Amino acid sequence: MFKKILIANRGEIALRILRACKEMGIPTVAVHSVVDRNLKHVRLADEAVCIGPNPSPKSYLNVPSIIAAMEITDAEAVHPGYGFLAENADFAERVQKSGFTFIGPDPDVIRMMGDKVEAIKAMKKAGVPTVPGSDGALPNPTEEPEKCLEIAERIGFPIIIKAAAGGGGRGMRVVHDKDSLISSIQITMGEAKAAFGDDTVYMEKFLQNPRHVEVQILSDGQGNAIHLGDRDCSLQRRHQKVLEEAPAPGIPQEVREATYKACVQACIDIKYKGAGTFEFLYENGRFYFIEMNTRIQVEHPVSEMVTGVDLIKEQIRVCSGLPLSIKQSDVIIRGHSFECRINAEDPQTFMPCPGLVKGFHAPGGLGVRVDSHLYNGYTVPPNYDSMIAKIITYGDTREIALDRMRQALDEAIVDGIKTNIPLQQMLVRDAEFRKGGVNIHYLEKKLGMNH
Ligand code: ADP
Repeated sequence: MFKKILIANRGEIALRILRACKEMGIPTVAVHSVVDRNLKHVRLADEAVCIGPNPSPKSYLNVPSIIAAMEITDAEAVHPGYGFLAENADFAERVQKSGFTFIGPDPDVIRMMGDKVEAIKAMKKAGVPTVPGSDGALPNPTEEPEKCLEIAERIGFPIIIKAAAGGGGRGMRVVHDKDSLISSIQITMGEAKAAFGDDTVYMEKFLQNPRHVEVQILSDGQGNAIHLGDRDCSLQRRHQKVLEEAPAPGIPQEVREATYKACVQACIDIKYKGAGTFEFLYENGRFYFIEMNTRIQVEHPVSEMVTGVDLIKEQIRVCSGLPLSIKQSDVIIRGHSFECRINAEDPQTFMPCPGLVKGFHAPGGLGVRVDSHLYNGYTVPPNYDSMIAKIITYGDTREIALDRMRQALDEAIVDGIKTNIPLQQMLVRDAEFRKGGVNIHYLEKKLGMNH
């Protein structure tokens, strides 16, 4: 096992990783920007190193600084959390080349999954169901417009053009008819080049009312891979997840089992190491793969709650070279779990609301878990993501877990700054949502947003 782990992240996920390390008896190093010196995990870590000024490129994305921090503290491995450098293949490679371990899959696997065209190819090969599409990159629309049109007509309008290197909901365009097809491809290519430095685009059938359902996996790269069931993350605003649950309600058992099997096979095929998520759109009883995330995700706790498996610990174990500590038959999905993301933002305008937290009272009680770095007197800086807490509940049934969430939200107090708690309180009382199975447009429609 690793003798020391450096945590290359901040906020709640840094604290979550620190807790797992402490449980495992592994000393920790926190790295932080100037403004983050008072973060909870920085205070709790065995060592802390300031790696630069507040803007992320100068600190949390500053690869030489992070590698230097590993060297001076004699850390053996780095946990990247989510966001920042978590899916940066060049960083993972630099870590390896410097003689350290990156807690995640091999750089080549990260790179392949970062190229959606390649990822889809690999998934198809393993039998993972994908969205009907162009089966690879589109030809140049200026030189071969007929070919592009032929592909679109074979798929059938509406279609969506997506950047192979895209991420964060950017680099996508829906096309409803052939008149705007060529210009839309050209525009998306231009945007992709500007945003990601790569103008490769591909085409997919645009699914009109899907749900977002994803499958959590763990794999040790030694031939053992397991799934930990699924999560429904359909409640989104501007492609940002707001409230998640596990398992996804109302999906026939045989359909989910077949999808899990294909995901596990894909992990074995690509010798995947660590925790990962296969993201799908789910419509009319069918799963359609859209991408794989090669990191731990924000919403991982709901899977932990229904399986009892500590995903961060397993991630650390397998990346230190140990085999998975559990078999598929050990994973029993029991009960139901919800997660509400609490953001420091105005509940009406969604504008970030950083500032001094005068009072913080986390909810508690049976089946309530709060992952948060907040404390009384902590100042939320304006420089980073506005998520300040995750409230997670568990219950034997979906209804019990949801009622617990309602109670937990009503009990939570964050004094001094505005939060989206009122939005979450409204959602857990919403009759349609309580029935289960709303699609990815539900929240925006409810908020009266036109998309
Ligand atoms: P990113 O990596 O930018 O998150 P994804 O491929 O995961 O991109 O897609 C992001 C979101 O875009 C999906 O959650 C879904 O809302 C929408 N989307 C992507 N592909 C399709 C599709 N084929 N049909 C309908 N919606 C889609």
